[in-house]
Amino acid sequence: MTLVFEPQSPTLVPTSTGEAFPVRRIFCIGRNYEDHAKEMGFKADPEAPFFFTKFAETIVGDGATIAYPQGTANFHYEVELVAAIGKAGRDIARTDALSHVWGYAVGLDMTRRDLQMEARGKGRPWDAGKNFEESSPLGLLHPAAASLGDATKGEIRLTVNGEVKQQGNLADLINPLDRLIEFLSTLYTLQPGDLIFTGTPAGVGPVVPGDVMTCSIEGLSSLTITVGE
Ligand code: MN
Repeated sequence: MTLVFEPQSPTLVPTSTGEAFPVRRIFCIGRNYEDHAKEMGFKADPEAPFFFTKFAETIVGDGATIAYPQGTANFHYEVELVAAIGKAGRDIARTDALSHVWGYAVGLDMTRRDLQMEARGKGRPWDAGKNFEESSPLGLLHPAAASLGDATKGEIRLTVNGEVKQQGNLADLINPLDRLIEFLSTLYTLQPGDLIFTGTPAGVGPVVPGDVMTCSIEGLSSLTITVGE
């Protein structure tokens, strides 16, 4: 059968092994550091992780310049540890969860904060605030064993134009990665290529055209992104 149009090729993320990792779905965890939950006006609840999703095509790579998005006047950064799933599973036991992880990267959950807050206030979905073109910059993916292991510690930080804006530690994740995988796998059959953005520490804030964000997590390659017009 002929195609109506040529399909877009899958989103491929470069890895430190020289391979390309095809991305399937993106799950983003909300309010997973206590200090960030607080700055957003909430008290963290360790019993109840929650999440939203983004299109795989929102990913852009290290060194990219991302266009300042339409429809917002408050474009925010959120630096996050990203885990890449390499093995399928549903109802995964917490003790087995980390065996489903292929590797880790530094990511940015870019957010149209004004649209997110408006949706939140009206009890509506967050899609317009979170899931838009170029909203998910992602650094080089490193195999788990050769980088963060179980990802339970390591400094995470973000600078804008060299000034430190976010600084935290993976040890402060309210729901650590094994718990997040257990939780998501009660709702979806996780598949190879799925990414989990694990949440951001305090210090989120706006960027404007010309700003350069540099994101790092101890043990991983850093991620540098410029904001364009
Ligand atoms: Mn986030």
